[in-house]
Amino acid sequence: MSRDLIIEHLRVVLIESPIRMARRQGVGDVGGTVKRVLLRLTTREGVVGWGEAAPWEVFTGTAEGAFAALDRTLRPLILGHPARRIRALAAGLDRALVGHTDAKAAVEMALFDIVGHAAGLPVADLLGGRVRDAIPLSFSIADPDFDADLARMRAMTAQGHRLFKVKTGVRPHAEDVAHLAAIRSEFGDGVDLRVDYNQALAPFGALARLRDVEAFRPTFIEQPVPRRHLDALAALTAALDTPILADESCFDAADVMEVVRRQAADAVSVKLMKCGGMLRAQALMAIADTAGLPGYGGTLWEGGIALAAGTQMIAATPGITLGCEFYMPHHVLTEDVLEAPVPVRDGAVVVPDGPGLGIRVSEAAIRQNARILAEA
Ligand SMILES: [Mg+2]
Repeated sequence: MSRDLIIEHLRVVLIESPIRMARRQGVGDVGGTVKRVLLRLTTREGVVGWGEAAPWEVFTGTAEGAFAALDRTLRPLILGHPARRIRALAAGLDRALVGHTDAKAAVEMALFDIVGHAAGLPVADLLGGRVRDAIPLSFSIADPDFDADLARMRAMTAQGHRLFKVKTGVRPHAEDVAHLAAIRSEFGDGVDLRVDYNQALAPFGALARLRDVEAFRPTFIEQPVPRRHLDALAALTAALDTPILADESCFDAADVMEVVRRQAADAVSVKLMKCGGMLRAQALMAIADTAGLPGYGGTLWEGGIALAAGTQMIAATPGITLGCEFYMPHHVLTEDVLEAPVPVRDGAVVVPDGPGLGIRVSEAAIRQNARILAEA
């Protein structure tokens, strides 16, 4: 077989998938459906790689924007490019188009999928080799119906899940405190509890609220204040015993440098859609590692393809020690586009062993389980 792996064909599909539960998280509340973009690249030799852009309007932009970026702006740069020259293409895409990190992440994962299939190796091996075989899975408590979430927690703890992240700052503070109390009183210290404000608090008065929350011993408090208030984030990091984790304040390596310089957080959330791909996630974690900040594997609205890429990346990135929130295909999307989801066992995502991203995409499942809004 030729080793050139020249990209000969590009197909991009904008899909809308139903979700099982409403999600209320302070900003960008979601109910009913989510939109994503699937990318299929095929080489001259017939090797296929899949990628996925799963944006969220309040983070990186719209699925329609990612679709247009891939179909119009990036397509001419991708076609004819050797799939093995991943960094070279990433640099070219950056020269051609500002932002659109979700679309660029989709391209990178499709290229890695191709190279992995051609080499017969999982993507984690191309990223340095795995340092872990499973990633503890966190589930987010974000249902407007808190009792429904408590019922889910009972079922999930029985299956070995320990990590739960409560979305706070949406309801009145007293309700947040009551919910945290209810969780600790029912589950005790058997659960590893985290809270995520999704930027909901004003800096004015935030410290007093977070001191109340701290009484429930969360492992970390995620993004309490808006992303641009790094000084307020730094003040909270200095004042509280509980570690502060930066999510919206930390998209890429440049943001991590600023967080480190201003001592604005104790940990960072890493998302392929924020930083633009697996290599960039590893680049930002290199800075975080050097500064002693652990990483957490966050998500926007990814399905199985993008989460497989995130799984491969975290498997090969030592500093991401706080687990991941890759629960969408198992708990939120009613169906996915894979023949079988990436397995979850004993409360942890199991890193796939197969070549490339380690998944099998089903064209039939795409048509059955999602509404196709556009394809090109
Ligand atoms: Mg977050």
